[in-house]
Amino acid sequence: MTINRLKTISDLNAWRAEIEKSGKTIAFVPTMGALHDGHLSLVKAGLEKCDAVIVSIFVNPTQFAPHEDFDSYPRTIDKDVEKLSKAGVSAVWLPDAADIYPDGVASDIHITGVSEPLEGTFRPTHFDGVATVVARLLRAVKPNLAIFGQKDYQQLQVIQKMVAQENIDVTIFGAPIMRDENGLALSSRNLYLSDDEYQIAIQLNKILKLFADQKISEEEAIEKLLDAGFDKVDYCTARHKDDLSEENPSRVLVAAWLGKTRLIDNMPMNK
Ligand code: AMP
Repeated sequence: MTINRLKTISDLNAWRAEIEKSGKTIAFVPTMGALHDGHLSLVKAGLEKCDAVIVSIFVNPTQFAPHEDFDSYPRTIDKDVEKLSKAGVSAVWLPDAADIYPDGVASDIHITGVSEPLEGTFRPTHFDGVATVVARLLRAVKPNLAIFGQKDYQQLQVIQKMVAQENIDVTIFGAPIMRDENGLALSSRNLYLSDDEYQIAIQLNKILKLFADQKISEEEAIEKLLDAGFDKVDYCTARHKDDLSEENPSRVLVAAWLGKTRLIDNMPMNK
């Protein structure tokens, strides 16, 4: 079966109508492209849980601050579509900014509470952009299930709250983090790493694991990250797994810089 390459909202609606006619359930995987095995694991989960999978590829301008890497974010559309086709995806939707933001590129959803700490402190407009684009994508695709990675753990919690707040009728599934052979969480931004930086990057999950196992404290974890060669640690902290407050911590989360690359990771705490 060849993959349907959808561009406009009317292309999407036509595909959607066909699927609806056949009574199939739809799983949706929103992405920003530069696809790797982490993304493909979400596709696999979608194929297991629903009859048809649709993936969107859209580098969403509203979730990048002006000084961030929107322009240089890796764009590898043809390779991406080939991977999705091989993976058995029914449709890939490649909207333009004008399809998603017909009235101008701006965020119009804010999620209080869970969007505020951690990433919210360091990227204050980021989750408004994420919540806005995901709400618009979900309202356009109308899937039964939408799949997000636990790699972006805080994002997953923000999206859960967003669909409740915005009353969007969809089930959200959080898929486990895919890692490479050295434990580095797969990320499109890993493409930015030089060979030397990669050797430092693979310490991130190992140091986080020591912290998750409570073998080292938060302060020791930060010190180890800096000793390993990270340039700056935005946060490395233990939080409540749902609201990310400091009460009853059960998940450790980290964001650290290597040169121009910002890496994030998280894992459950072993208590
Ligand atoms: P992105 O293209 O970076 O916006 O990611 C699209 C989706 O893939 C998000 O739900 C991410 O959380 C998820 N994702 C990215 N990397 C991984 C990974 N290593 N393992 C599992 N899911 C991932």
